[in-house]
Amino acid sequence: MVEDVHKPLAVLIVEDEPVNAAFLRGIVSKLAAVERIETVSSLREAHDRLGREGFDVVLLDLNLPDSAGLDTLMSVTSDWPQVAVVVVTGEHDEHTGLHTLASGAQEYLVKGKYDAYTLQKSIRYAVERKRTEVSQKRLLKELEGVNQELRDFAYIVSHDLKAPLRGISSLAQWIAEDYADKLGDDGKEHLELLLSRVERMHDLIDGVLQYSRVGRICEEQMDVDLNGLLVEAVDMVAAPEHIHIEVAEGLPTVHGERTRLLQVFQNLLSNAVKYMDKPEGQVQVTCEEDGEYWRFGVADNGPGIEQKHFERIFQIFQTVRGGEGRDSTGVGLSLVKKIVEMYGGRAWVESHVGKGSTFYVTLPRRHEPTAGTQDTAAREILEPAGRT
Ligand code: ADP
Repeated sequence: MVEDVHKPLAVLIVEDEPVNAAFLRGIVSKLAAVERIETVSSLREAHDRLGREGFDVVLLDLNLPDSAGLDTLMSVTSDWPQVAVVVVTGEHDEHTGLHTLASGAQEYLVKGKYDAYTLQKSIRYAVERKRTEVSQKRLLKELEGVNQELRDFAYIVSHDLKAPLRGISSLAQWIAEDYADKLGDDGKEHLELLLSRVERMHDLIDGVLQYSRVGRICEEQMDVDLNGLLVEAVDMVAAPEHIHIEVAEGLPTVHGERTRLLQVFQNLLSNAVKYMDKPEGQVQVTCEEDGEYWRFGVADNGPGIEQKHFERIFQIFQTVRGGEGRDSTGVGLSLVKKIVEMYGGRAWVESHVGKGSTFYVTLPRRHEPTAGTQDTAAREILEPAGRT
């Protein structure tokens, strides 16, 4: 394992031509930084040695009696991911060299075209690169673990809070029924207030659950025709008669989880309807090409939003004052943002107070696998049994 930059190095030379092997060994043995050199002449022996002793770097000839070309390299890098590899190739073209770097080598040298200085530099660079790569991988893994724990924690806590909340709600209802004659108007009003607070807390907990599900519970990814999806979203929003929703024709097909994409448009449309303050409400859904992305806009002629709230409203539980009615939990836009970011897109708003707002989201035009799809099975196993 490569750890300390100044640690003396152990080098394994894998070369079947005795003359080349001796030449390499001659140079390497003169390097002050090297404390141990071993030489083997086949891939099998190389694996054998690497399995028995620790090495920092392998000087690897690709064409050996028992393996040839990039297969040799990949066999070493896949079995010994923590060891740096300098490929020493007989091929003179740069193409082969670059291929070796893309296939996991840290450096490559062309036989007959390097001297002691170049070799020393290559060994040091290779070891240093491998060290950085290994520590980056380790950090990434730790980060993924912490993120996963956080997602599970939010999910489990919010799920478990629901049960006692249901209990409070039932008890309050029984008290209201069983002691109706003893409570008086004040008592009844207080109980009603308590019930409405319980309902609000229930909605907030549902919000956390929904938020923590994005990227954690994954459906099948598919090509989704947004024309059909928007018909469904408009239908679900069920706008009152004074609000007219117009959707652009010829919307594209994008790749993703259908339910999540529906959530994006449904949340944006339902906000446009929910906050509409004009006697004749106009909502328009548009789509334009924006480089490698589709840019969708949901524009309304509602109250608009002050610029100072543009960022805040995309955070969970953040509402603008006056919007904290029974229907407002501050979850909708945070979900929109989380979903489009999971697909590599963005979400933002442009707005003028009194005139209206346009919410924009972008989605990639080309399909790339997303983080949320990679280990669906593993994540679903983490789902505690019986929780929904
Ligand atoms: P919620 O609607 O439950 O409050 P959101 O996250 O969807 O949560 O929205 C956050 C805040 O952004 C809302 O409370 C509201 O103040 C503001 N907002 C969202 N959409 C609009 C809109 N179309 N017009 C005006 N204000 C909006």
